[in-house]
Amino acid sequence: MTAVHAGYDGLLLDLDGTVYRGEVAIPAAPGTVGALRGSGVGMAFVTNNASRSPGQVAEHLVSVGVEVAADEVVTSGQAAAALLADRLAPGSAILVVGTDALAAEVEAVGLRPVRKADADPSGVIQGHSPETAWPLLAEACLAIRAGAVWVACNIDTTLPTERGELPGNGALVAALRAATGREPLVAGKPARALVDAAVERLGARHPLLVGDRLETDIAAAHGVMESLLVLSGVTDAPALLAAPAGQRPTFVGADVAALGEEPEALRIGERPGWRATVTGDELTLHSDGAGHHEALDALRALCHQWWAGPGGVVTVTATDAAAAAALRALGLAGSPVSPSRAQERAVG
Ligand SMILES: [Mg+2]
Repeated sequence: MTAVHAGYDGLLLDLDGTVYRGEVAIPAAPGTVGALRGSGVGMAFVTNNASRSPGQVAEHLVSVGVEVAADEVVTSGQAAAALLADRLAPGSAILVVGTDALAAEVEAVGLRPVRKADADPSGVIQGHSPETAWPLLAEACLAIRAGAVWVACNIDTTLPTERGELPGNGALVAALRAATGREPLVAGKPARALVDAAVERLGARHPLLVGDRLETDIAAAHGVMESLLVLSGVTDAPALLAAPAGQRPTFVGADVAALGEEPEALRIGERPGWRATVTGDELTLHSDGAGHHEALDALRALCHQWWAGPGGVVTVTATDAAAAAALRALGLAGSPVSPSRAQERAVG
């Protein structure tokens, strides 16, 4: 058997919802990452979060049981600092709206972090920090108006926490956008800078991106590399089926353990045991003959047919008991499918 990862020379792994969820590892992650390490494939752990350093992120991963080194972590803070270094002279002053870890990334690329507009910054870098308040936003506002290059680490509007969705970096970027009428360059997913930095770090020519969010992870891979959507995070089957054209993965699996399965078992496409048909704007699932009737296979077959047809929000009908059971297991039974609440949340 050839595992799907064997077809690629590098893996880009999203973190939250893919490798861990908050303070807990996805159960399959420690074993899968260990096995992948044994296979020799290069891995980059890619996060839109710019508030922690790669070392802090690696420490957190190790604390939940996933063995990762700091130099395998690529953050949107690093990618954002690199965007500024590409555009500005070495030693240029950069106004940092973000954590000390973000300021350290600015220094690491040969730029000079400052916190005041009267230091004449040539750039503004903006990443999430729970400490950011109006006085610092005011400094950034002045610097951006004076012509500084403005880079946002990500534009995730919300930040998932135990207490619910709280304002993310994108919410504070929106405040500066409103105050300045300017648009920032963006480093994090779905923008390409973060993904490009990870690919460059790996030296990969044919990488695979693995993530749980359609509008950041899968959108970042669209058109440039193949992708595996894992259902261990924010995306559910109804959201995947309704995915717009730029957010459709190559493969779908339950969690990262899917990286050890054969590619043809994971690919969105026709699947043994199932037949999906589209009539007008209706989608129907039939079980086809004997054998395994795995629900995820039904989802792969449904996506294949539906995406070739109208796509979008749809009600799925079952023609037999096995198909009905699969639709129930996928959350596709009964009421019309709508893009899930999960898909409307942001942050990767
Ligand atoms: Mg994620």
